[in-house]
This record gives sequence, C-alpha cells and structure tokens, in this order.
Amino acid sequence: MRALQLTDVGHLELVERPLPEAASGEVLVDVLACGLCGTDRHIVRGEYPSRMPLVLGHEFGGRVRWSAPGSSWAPGDLVSVDPNISCGGCADCRAGRVALCPDRHALGVDIDGGLGEVVVVPETQLYAIADVDPLHLAFVEPLACCLRGLDLAELSGGESVAVVGGGVMGQLTVQLATRAGASRITLVTRQAAKRELAERLGATDSCTPGEADGLSRTFDVVFECAGATETVTQSMSLARRGGSVILLGIPPEGQTIPVSPFTLVVDELRVQGSFLNPVTQARAADLVGSGVLDLDPLISRVLTLSDVEQALSTAPSGGDIKYVVRPAEME
Ligand SMILES: [Zn+2]
Ligand SMILES: [Zn+2]
Repeated sequence: MRALQLTDVGHLELVERPLPEAASGEVLVDVLACGLCGTDRHIVRGEYPSRMPLVLGHEFGGRVRWSAPGSSWAPGDLVSVDPNISCGGCADCRAGRVALCPDRHALGVDIDGGLGEVVVVPETQLYAIADVDPLHLAFVEPLACCLRGLDLAELSGGESVAVVGGGVMGQLTVQLATRAGASRITLVTRQAAKRELAERLGATDSCTPGEADGLSRTFDVVFECAGATETVTQSMSLARRGGSVILLGIPPEGQTIPVSPFTLVVDELRVQGSFLNPVTQARAADLVGSGVLDLDPLISRVLTLSDVEQALSTAPSGGDIKYVVRPAEME
C-alpha cells in the first residue's frame, strides 16, 4: 500500500509499505477520503508536536477492509473515524471532558492516520455512516468540532450570530446556526468569495473585518472560527453585553491579546473555548449521512496522495475552503 509519510520537519515522502496488521480491538480501513487542514500544515512545519515518522491525516473515513471474527464491524461497512483517542480512565475522561484528557493521542498526529490507502483504527473510534458521497467523509471530524461549539453556545432560536472566519469551520457553523434558528447570521471575513458562499449557505449578511468594526456589541453569540489573535480580539468586541464568544479556531500557541477585565465584568461577557469533538462525532456522522448540509461547495480541490506535498507546502489561495485527498486514487 502507498502512504504519505512525514519523515522529518518539512519532509513528506510517498512510500510503499506492507499492509499494516490490526491487533485485537482494531480494524483495517480502506481510506476513501481524508481532508487536509491547518493542523497538518503546522505539523509539517514542526509547529505542532507530532511523532515522526508519521502518516498524517486526521479528518477521514472509509470502508472497513478487515475486522477480527466476532467484531461488530464487517468488511464493507462505511465508517467515519474520530481521530482523538482518550484514556477513558482519568478524572477528565470520567467527567466526560475527554478533550482535556492528558493522555489523549490522535490518529494522524501521534499514530498513523488517513493519508495512506489503508489505516489501522481502534474499533472504539469508528462511527457508522449512511451511504454518502465518499468525499463527504472528510467533513465529519470538522463538523463534530463545530457541533461542540454550537452545543456550548446553547442557541434556542432567534439569536443574532456573527461567524468570524470563512473557512470550513465558519461555513459549517453558518449552516448549523441556520438550522438552530438564528435570526441573523453575519459572516465576517476578508475574502469576497467566502462571504458570497456563506450567504448562499444561510448567512443573512456578511462583511469585511473593517466593516465589522461598526457592529461592536451587537451580536448575541459570536463564533470565532479563524484562530488568529486579531480575529479573537474582534470577536470579543462584536458580542453584545451579556453575550457569548465561542472560540473554535486554534490560535498560535504563546500569542496574547490585550483584554479589558473591566469590560468582561461589567458587560458580563462569556468567553468560552471549544476544543475538539468529545461527544459530537456520532451526531456529526448522522448529519453528514442525512445529506442535509451543503458540503460540495466546500470542496475546493480533490487530490491524490502525490499532490499533497505540494498542496501543504504552498499557502492555500484566498477563496479555497477544503482540500480532500482520495488516498486510493492514483494520479
Ligand atoms: Zn483538522
Ligand atoms: Zn483520560
């Protein structure tokens, strides 16, 4: 089988390897689609801790190729994969806060992930999914992260919502906020193509970050989906008094922003981080499987394994949302 291996910082290699072997409690999955994301870029550049050598790819799904006798999974089952494996036994895991598990490790970060034709996956990480366009399997993991953010926002309908950032998380959050009954959804991003797309997908309006400066303190809920310090700062200024800011984007580690504690107190602002997808993967798989979300417009490029190194080493162009790799496809 072929796999794309990160052998050193900045060095990806397409290698031919023997089929991996699954141990008890594991299955082999033929990867049908694997999304690329900012985390992959950070890993390649050595800006995010990972094991090496490593097969990248944490946003993937496919078909079960092999399962042990007695397994509840059978060859041919279409599955999405929750890449994050937590210990199950620590205080955080027992309290349901599995994203905070100190022993958490992930497929595509610490152990081989989805940028290979075949991957070993623990059965606990598999979620059945209805027969969808295989490319849509790449959206289950990012959607699960967005669902977590929506849960934390506790929308009950009729809210005004700002979504800051027009990438995949922003575009999915626009669709989820629409379904949750938000009465106004404003997408804030520099790129015109992403603003237009968001308006097609359910945003009531959109604006540039400069224009959003005029909207301070007007939104019930702000979802920060860009992960830059300036967008976090702007998100905090957009929430109305008594409003909530949900931080979904992952900003660079170590960077800080000035915050007025006075404003936080007297405006009763709630600023809530939302990390990973601890309890929402099954719902994300059902939602993708149901076909109610508009995912095709989010696929900017479909790649083979041979295209990935070039795609990860160059900056994505302005309007691009998501690159999806089909590992079994030859160039
Ligand atoms: Zn990702
Ligand atoms: Zn744990």
